[in-house]
Formats: sequence, C-alpha cells, structure tokens
Amino acid sequence: MKANRGRDTQPELAVRRLLHAVGLRYRVNFRPIPRLNRTADVVFTRQKVAVFIDGCFWHGCPEHYQRPVSNREYWDPKVARNIARDLDTTRRLVSASWIVLRYWEHEAPEEVAKSIAACVKQRVG
Ligand SMILES: [Zn+2]
Repeated sequence: MKANRGRDTQPELAVRRLLHAVGLRYRVNFRPIPRLNRTADVVFTRQKVAVFIDGCFWHGCPEHYQRPVSNREYWDPKVARNIARDLDTTRRLVSASWIVLRYWEHEAPEEVAKSIAACVKQRVG
C-alpha cells in the first residue's frame, strides 16, 4: 500500500512542472470555492478549471485498486467514502460552473499535462 497520500505526489509534481514549462500559472492544493471544504490539486482560478490527480489506492482506481488483505472492514468503507466524496465534489464544482478534470496517478504525466493545457487554453476568453 502506498503511503504517499495527499499532496505533492510524484505524478502530481511531474504534471505541475510540465504545466509550468508551457507557461501556465495555477494554484496548488487550493479550494476552488472558498466556502466549500474541498481542495483540488491544481486550480486555474481565472479559467475556472479544477484538476484532481487521484491516487490509485485512495480513490479506488478500477485498474489498480487492490483490497488490502487485512482490516477490510476499515478499508472498504473508507475507499468507498472517498469515491462518493469525489463524485460529490465534481458535482458541486460543475454546478458552480467549474470545469473538473480528473486523472489517475498512473496516467502518463505528459498526457495529463497536455490534456489540462488544452482545456485551460480553450477557457481563456
Ligand atoms: Zn491506477
């Protein structure tokens, strides 16, 4: 099980570096909606684009999530809650006119950054 929960994981850092390299500027670990207690990994405030790079374990990646052998009565509901919370976060942001981009940490940082950059550039009026 990976211990790299939360902020500044390697895939996230790689994506941020690539975005920065193409001249994009963004907030990191930032609440898109201040009164809503949900933090996105990378946030473009002007373009209203919120990016989440979800950990395969914590967010239940369909390709990589493996149920832990021990303590399932703890982990199963916990991961299920995370997934439900992710859906809820997406729904709330979308209803406030944000674009929500979600990726898995296993995705290639180059592809992720390319996809984010394309979306953000489209949003600039
Ligand atoms: Zn995965």
